Amino acid sequence: MEEKSVVIIGATGSIGTQTIEVLRKIKGFKLLGFTYHSNEVKAREILKLFPEAKVFSTKKEIESFYDFMESTKPDITVLAIPGFEGFKVALKTIPFTKRLALANKESLVCGGKFIKEEIKRHGVELIPIDSEHSAIFQLMEDNVEKIAITASGGALRDIPLNELWEAKPEDVLKHPVWNMGARITVDSATMVNKAFEVLEAMELFSLRREQIEVYIHKSSIVHGMVFLKDGTVKIHAAIPDMRVPIAYSLTYPERLYEYEEYPEFSTLKFEEVEKERYPLFFLVDEIYDSYTLRTVFNAADEVAVDSFLKGKMSYKDLVETVEKAVEKMEKIEVTSPEELVEIDKKARILTEEVIKNAGKN
Ligand code: NDP
Ligand code: MG
Repeated sequence: MEEKSVVIIGATGSIGTQTIEVLRKIKGFKLLGFTYHSNEVKAREILKLFPEAKVFSTKKEIESFYDFMESTKPDITVLAIPGFEGFKVALKTIPFTKRLALANKESLVCGGKFIKEEIKRHGVELIPIDSEHSAIFQLMEDNVEKIAITASGGALRDIPLNELWEAKPEDVLKHPVWNMGARITVDSATMVNKAFEVLEAMELFSLRREQIEVYIHKSSIVHGMVFLKDGTVKIHAAIPDMRVPIAYSLTYPERLYEYEEYPEFSTLKFEEVEKERYPLFFLVDEIYDSYTLRTVFNAADEVAVDSFLKGKMSYKDLVETVEKAVEKMEKIEVTSPEELVEIDKKARILTEEVIKNAGKN
């Protein structure tokens, strides 16, 4: 069998480095190239492991990277960069790959319809990496009534509510289960991440908002459930380790990855999401039917999380900033990716204004 060629966009990050680990363990895949943004040291380490791979900095040589994609047309492209930038990069790379293994959330959260149009136009396979969506992808069939995805509840899940709003970046970055990039770790504490995942699930599986339930499941063993019309519930479980869904996104429809452990089932517990603890999660019900509001939700969160991590705003301000920015933006129809890029820019300016005016009235 011929080797499958793989390109990783964002190889130096959490998903990127775990993809590298998977590639070192499975046979039949060849790392053709990868990108990093600023971590040159890590990029060099990866190059030592895969000396034949071509490396590009997205900060300095993004156009050469797209030329490389066009000339090599890899079998699989792993998109593992965070933020709205991921949407722009996805649109540029879809025409040149056969399979998009998608970790970046914003592509579908902000611009799902444009990504899906491009995927269809170019006959590309879209395989999710996110553990909950990988679970649903593996369970999905025709006669589905609804699905459920789980949430760990993030780093602040057990903190008393009266101390929640004073949480510091170091508290928020201590995730109880997963080891991930900074933004998604903060988004797990606020559960913005789970709001994103509801939107991703709507896009990936053509579901309505009311067909998607979310449970807090602290041990993160069950990742997704599919409720069939005949009363059957199919449940996907695995040790919480991103290398498992990453491997599946590469080897699908085969399973070539070997994992030596299984989860412990003695304490399975599912709880409702608390409104007072996770107000930003519940914003999903106000924004899900508008790509504009979804883009504002993301942009405001990107700006506010960055500011929170730099110690410039409190946890309470982070939550309020996102709420206010979404409230201030009107719902307008988006008809092109270019318009969406403009909305993203506008939303960032709007968020900066919200931050500047905070406390003035
Ligand atoms: P990290 O912050 O760990 O890594 C980000 C990667 O993207 C790095 O390689 C970084 O390069 C690169 N990068 C950063 N900014 C840019 C930019 N502006 N343009 C191009 N590349 C950039 O993130 P994660 O790996 O945690 O997450 C990546 C994506 O996957 C996110 O969208 C996240 O929501 C999603 N995801 C992550 C999961 C996880 O377990 N980590 C689970 C499910 C989804 P460098 O470091 O060289 O600067
Ligand atoms: Mg997830």
